[in-house]
Amino acid sequence: MSENNKILEISHLVKSFGNHEVLRDIDFSVEKGDVISIIGASGSGKSTMLRCVNLLETPTGGNIYYHGKDITDPKMDVCTYREKVGMVFQSFNLFANLTVLENCMVGPIKVAKKSKEEAKELAMKFLQKVGMDPYINAKPKQLSGGQKQRVAIARALAMEPEVLLFDEPTSALDPQMVGEVLNVMTALAKEGMTMIIVTHEMAFARDISSHVIFMADGVIEEEGTSDDIFKTPQKEKTKEFLSRFR
Ligand code: ADP
Ligand code: MG
Repeated sequence: MSENNKILEISHLVKSFGNHEVLRDIDFSVEKGDVISIIGASGSGKSTMLRCVNLLETPTGGNIYYHGKDITDPKMDVCTYREKVGMVFQSFNLFANLTVLENCMVGPIKVAKKSKEEAKELAMKFLQKVGMDPYINAKPKQLSGGQKQRVAIARALAMEPEVLLFDEPTSALDPQMVGEVLNVMTALAKEGMTMIIVTHEMAFARDISSHVIFMADGVIEEEGTSDDIFKTPQKEKTKEFLSRFR
């Protein structure tokens, strides 16, 4: 693909907490339309990596280029960058005191400086997309986990991001609610949304991913196409990890 399709380039990313080096020399790039799954054991650094990409954590070393501009440069406008790189969390992080509709309008109004009318239109469009438009006046506590996560996805989409990051979006859900969230994500992938997804749902990762990254102990141990990783893994650590899901 041409350079123009490259949205993000993560180069020699390092993150330490004190003496603990959690990420070591992470390199990968994200092109328009990519669906990248990140798999690996608990504690391998997956969340820290996503949080660095979104600058929720400050990298200790290395660079992150967004359309060729280094966003780890202290002079960069981080707010604009964060609008373009959305995040969906395991624990939803909805505003408890706001309705479903208000949750989805607040970012477009406060951050993207849209008018109330525009924000409402955007919020409605994406709530319809995730099937949550019948619940616009509900408060988060009235919703199931799956419904809350679908609202969180609509809220992220209402910022019209270029890339959406998901950190174990179904891990906090009861099993019967996992499917509704994965279905929404599959639909987004089919529409060409660029996504980076940390997940333990291996069948989903296998089916949806254009690229799979297996992390172990803070490094990318192995990466490749879905078939490379799930059908013909080369490294012992990858094989061992995947065998836990069979
Ligand atoms: P994963 O998401 O793959 O389970 P994490 O990125 O959450 O892994 O964690 C990787 C390692 O970094 C773990 O050893 C964890 O304890 C450590 N870690 C994560 N966040 C912090 C933090 N804020 N302070 C200190 N250590 C942290
Ligand atoms: Mg994690």
